[in-house]
Parts: sequence; structure tokens; C-alpha cells
Amino acid sequence: MTVSQLARSIAESATLTLNERAALLRAQGQPVVHLGGGEPKNKVPIGAILHSAARLASGDVKYVPADGTPSLKQAIIRYTEEHYGRLVAPDNVIVSAGAKQSLYNVLLSLVDPQDEVVILAPYWVSYPELVKLAYGRPVIVRAEDGGFVPRLEEVEEALSASTRAIVVNSPNNPSGAVYPPELVRGIVELAEERGLTVVMDDIYHRLVFDGVRPPSAYDFTGLDVDASPVVVVNGVSKLYGMTGFRIGWAVAPRPLVEVMKNLQSQTTSCPPAVSMAAAEGALLGVQSAVESLRLGIQNNRDVMLQELRAFEGVRVEKPLGTFYCLPDFRAFSEDSEELSRLLLDRALVVTVPGKEFGAEGHLRLSFCGSVKEITEGVRRIRWALDPTAPNEIVIGERVVRRDWL
Ligand code: PMP
Repeated sequence: MTVSQLARSIAESATLTLNERAALLRAQGQPVVHLGGGEPKNKVPIGAILHSAARLASGDVKYVPADGTPSLKQAIIRYTEEHYGRLVAPDNVIVSAGAKQSLYNVLLSLVDPQDEVVILAPYWVSYPELVKLAYGRPVIVRAEDGGFVPRLEEVEEALSASTRAIVVNSPNNPSGAVYPPELVRGIVELAEERGLTVVMDDIYHRLVFDGVRPPSAYDFTGLDVDASPVVVVNGVSKLYGMTGFRIGWAVAPRPLVEVMKNLQSQTTSCPPAVSMAAAEGALLGVQSAVESLRLGIQNNRDVMLQELRAFEGVRVEKPLGTFYCLPDFRAFSEDSEELSRLLLDRALVVTVPGKEFGAEGHLRLSFCGSVKEITEGVRRIRWALDPTAPNEIVIGERVVRRDWL
């Protein structure tokens, strides 16, 4: 058997692998602190549970339309009107098995072999791999000043005759940065001028802090959704803590939705019916769960910042959204993979190497868990890296001594 070049070129998802590793260590009874996660701990909203349970109880769980059930599409239309101020048609909406599949469908529909897709660093691990899966070429834009927000001129410089799309994720995984409105405006204008598509990954758009309002790409185009260069991807995974249901969606011009629907009909036939009922229940149900999640996470963010700021050598920027921060650990190591491995092996703390996100020398730390996990995680990282920290620590029930500094 030979494996295709394409399949061989695709890296495994570092974040999912780390989740599995953490789960395995926990199953072995190891006191692991997981600061690598990408999902909130809250329970699924009651509306989602009741609505999907009713669907299940009906015994009628069959194929549904390839682009999603009409009733979920209506709920997404309502959501789009409420949160984006845009009234879209059912033909502008396609539901998929997670925002990840929505992104894959969008890229497959836009990219021919060797076409380029511009990605702003730091970026979510899957973007470059999804572009490669469409036989395209990821072009990474890094901020020259080493920060988390590239300048518009830097984005413009990355464009070529082969560029088809620009992927924008704000609030941003992994940095927690929220892009300034002028940057999003500039990108939308560039896309309009050059006939490109802006793929706006809005999966964290309501998880923002300190009264920040994340700019919506639609704010910067006067064009109708069908004529605009904007595709918005969203879903229930993060805001409603429904990662396991695998429901995401794209709002896009009709011709694009039409081809995405064809692709999906030939790959997964349709999104899962019970999960779609759950997503509908979440979108139409009481929305207080989203606000309480946001408030809890904002509090966690403050705890994480306080802990990291007391940690000499670590440089951290205040995240304005998501549940991640991306502190700079270069005072301790330039090699984030090695650092992350050391922290897992010695201190039983899961972190994600910044290298996976195009930010070598950094570690992505999540604050979607409990306050206790955050304080305990940072305490152990400090012990493992900082020679001025006490030499002995209690991890679980064991006293552990540091002998590598
Ligand atoms: N985009 C970003 C930026 C993400 O962080 C994630 C999940 N980690 C996704 C998309 C995918 O979300 P879903 O679970 O809906 O596939």
C-alpha cells in the first residue's frame, strides 16, 4: 500500500494529540493540569439538550438536506441578523460538521492547485493544513514588530496574482488578540479591490472582555452578502460549549454555498440530524449561558494574567477575547516544543508549543478550565523553569525535586 503525497504532507492536529495525551495520563491516575484545552467546561445549554432529546425520542433520525435542516438555517439567519445586522437568505447559509468542516468546504471551493491563501500569524493550527488539503499554498504574514497583529501593509505585501483568500480570525486563537477595526476594514477593502475572499473565522466572536466589540467584516462592506467578498464562519462549539456536537456553519454568497453544498453532499451527505437539533435549541434558547461563560472566562483571564505577571522572565500580552494567551517564554527556551515536552514530563502540565501557531518561543496557555487549574498550572511551570522558585514541589501526593536547572 502506498500513501498519497497529500496525506503524507498533512500534520496531525497538535492540539487534539495533546488532548489525547492528557486524557491518557489522567486515566493512569496522573495529576495532570491541562492548560492546552480548547473547550469550555460548562454543561451544554438546556435548550440544546431538550431539543436534541426530542429529536432522538421521535425515532426519526434520517438523512436531512445536505446544507442543513431548514429550521436550523432559520435559527442561523436570526442569529446573523441579531449579531451582524445582516438579513441573509437560506441559500446564503450552509451547516457543516463543525466550523472546521465549514472552513475546509470554503477553502476547497475557492482554491485551485497552487493558489495562495494568506493567513495572519499567529494562526490556528489547522489553517495551513486545510489550505494544503485543497492543494493550495498557505502564505503566512507575520507582524514585523513580533506582535500578534500584522499591519495592513504587511498583509498587502503578501498578496500575489495567485492569492484567492485571506483568513482572518479575531478574536484570535492562539493569541487572544482582537484585531483593530482599521485592519479588518483594510482587509475587506483590499479583497473588494482585488476580487479576493475574506474568510472571517468568528468562532469566538462573543467571547470578548473589557467591553471590547470585535469588528465584524460585514461592517466594512456596503455590498449585499451575495456581492460582498466576505464569508463568515461560526458555530456552537465555543460559545455554547458544544464541541462534541460538531456543528458549525458558513454564511456566504449564494454561488459559493451552492458548490459547498455539492461538496458536502458527496462527502458527508449532511450534518448529523440530532446535533443540528441541539444547535437549534442552543441558538433559540435562553442566551444567559453565553454571558455567564464569558464572565467566568474573563475572570479566569484575570487570574491567568496575575499569575503570569508575577512570573519573572515571562512576557504576556493581555488577551481581549477567546480563552487563550500566548506568553513569550524565550527567556527560558527558544524551542517551544522542547519546553512543552519538559513541562508535561516533569510538571505534568499540558501546554501547546507556540511553533504550532507560527509563534516559536511562545506557549499557548488556555484559561477555559478552573481557577485552580490555572494557578496550579502556572505554579508548576514556574517551579520547572525558574531557578529562583523553591526546589521542591508537591505534585498530586508526591514531593518532587527539581534537578535540571
Ligand atoms: N476556528 C478556530 C479558530 C478554532 O479555534 C476552532 C476550534 N479549536 C475551530 C475553528 C473549529 O471549531 P469546531 O469545533 O466547530 O470545528
